Amino acid sequence: MLKVEGLCKRFGQLEVLRGVGLEVDRGETVAIIGPSGSGKSTLLRCINYQERIEAGSIIVEGAPMVQDGVYAGEAEIRAMRRKMGMVFQSYNLFPHLSVKRNLMEAQIVVQKAEKAAAEAVAMEMLQKVGLADKANSYPYELSGGQAQRVAIARALAMKPDLMSFDEPTSALDPELTGEVLAVMRDLAREHMTMLVVTHELAFAREVADRVIFMADGLVVEQGTAQDIFYNPQHERTKAFLKQVL
Ligand code: ADP
Ligand code: MG
Repeated sequence: MLKVEGLCKRFGQLEVLRGVGLEVDRGETVAIIGPSGSGKSTLLRCINYQERIEAGSIIVEGAPMVQDGVYAGEAEIRAMRRKMGMVFQSYNLFPHLSVKRNLMEAQIVVQKAEKAAAEAVAMEMLQKVGLADKANSYPYELSGGQAQRVAIARALAMKPDLMSFDEPTSALDPELTGEVLAVMRDLAREHMTMLVVTHELAFAREVADRVIFMADGLVVEQGTAQDIFYNPQHERTKAFLKQVL
């Protein structure tokens, strides 16, 4: 589904990603963990074409978005981006639109969907995240956990092949994280392909098929959740786990 090779990204003098490689198979949930500042968010932003890379390759469903630092054409990249949904720490809902309209907007504008069809998909996705009863509410009427579930439903409404999450629960009060993680757990069970940056290590351990540990702009270690959490090989991984578990 996704293959990243030798990815390098710098901001001015700062080398943030220094040759990152990873793969995500279809239907798999891959968790990315690691200390703050290690480049996790930047990596997701590069994969979603919110940042351009200097070197390396990003291959989406067998087609290069960028190969050895050379990008595909705008139209090809646009088509790839439509296959990728992203959920951020801050949910970025449109404040002036109802929950249902939040889910319909991109379907109508980007996918040129008919209004009735967009509405049907919106209701289906709200159902999926347990918020069909909030369809006519406005974002300010939602709790943080509900808003994040709406943001997930909005990404799902575009029928992505890959969903990326960047610390989706880190802005939430602890009592609200569970409902968001439960939605993500359901998606994993349904074999949605997911790349999840998270500091919820219990979630990563239970839900992820594979776990990637990043530090200082590199993938230090990757393996099954079992490997990484119970049998880490690298000192850097051991030190990180000791600190946070
Ligand atoms: P993480 O998500 O693992 O905490 P980030 O990808 O957010 O790490 O950041 C990695 C490094 O890149 C940090 O040192 C951060 O300050 C820097 N960085 C991120 N975005 C930018 C930017 N737009 N301009 C300059 N530096 C950035
Ligand atoms: Mg981050």
